[in-house]
Amino acid sequence: MSGFPRACVLGWPVSQSRSPLIHNHWLATYGIAGGYERAEITPADFEGFVRGLGAAGFVGGNVTVPHKEAAFRLVDEADASAADLGAVNTLWFEDGRLFGGNTDGVGFLANLDEAAPGWEGERKLAAVIGAGGAARAVAHALGKRGFERVAVVNRTREKAEAIAPLAGRAGVAGGLDDLWRFLPDADLVVNATSLGMAGKGALEVHLGELPERAVATDLIYVPLETPFLADARARGLRTVDGLGMLLHQAAPGFERWFGVRPEVTPELRALVVADIGS
Ligand code: NDP
Repeated sequence: MSGFPRACVLGWPVSQSRSPLIHNHWLATYGIAGGYERAEITPADFEGFVRGLGAAGFVGGNVTVPHKEAAFRLVDEADASAADLGAVNTLWFEDGRLFGGNTDGVGFLANLDEAAPGWEGERKLAAVIGAGGAARAVAHALGKRGFERVAVVNRTREKAEAIAPLAGRAGVAGGLDDLWRFLPDADLVVNATSLGMAGKGALEVHLGELPERAVATDLIYVPLETPFLADARARGLRTVDGLGMLLHQAAPGFERWFGVRPEVTPELRALVVADIGS
């Protein structure tokens, strides 16, 4: 076991994760003797691995698909976001106890704050398309940010109904064909489906009802400009890709493990863009 602090990303599969690239860049930038590695752990082995995390020399880690809910059940204490979402993406130790947090929502908001200042408008309405794991964190974050309404629409309407309450009293739900009703009031529209990813079909929605002030954002970052964002840009709207969310959600974990609040710089972004392209 090495003497310097190490963290890891736990997933299955995990080869696609860009977290090692991000954290090792920060370690080098800040001159910290530490390490960050991939840990490909099956669901069957997950509990054992997490229980042995500290003994194996890890100061914590990130948790990705499909382990976020299992991680929530294993931590000694969860932060407020993880508790509301029932899902953990960041693990760390405090006084020997295992803590779990969820930074997806923080990353989502920080990306918009940085890339599209004023994106919230009057916080009247945010429309979230999709109701999977990522949409849960987004709806929750938008509710916390104080939007009057957070409209969650999804192909499977029941899933939208299940997650809309995560936005608190602001949450409303619908099917995909209800989207047009919400768009005229929307300050923000989010593609939180997996449609538009490289190799997948495009999300086909009509954005013509959106006001000019609206911002469109996608959680997908491969490709950086999805058909959804290209359509919004062609309509003259401001657009924000999903890469900044990935970078910003990583920062709180790095600070917990290595004691430095890292910056999301253009250099880091360029590094990940180059990796995506390779
Ligand atoms: P899930 O698999 O949990 O959810 C997928 C969503 O896409 C569901 O709402 C699903 O609808 C919808 N969907 C899939 N296929 C179709 C289709 N043919 N027509 C209509 N809707 C469809 O995925 P996640 O929530 O985990 O991730 C969603 C996206 O966000 C992914 O592309 C992921 O890479 C990205 N992401 C980005 C992050 C970042 O940091 N930038 C962080 C996390 C995720 P239904 O419920 O009806 O099946």
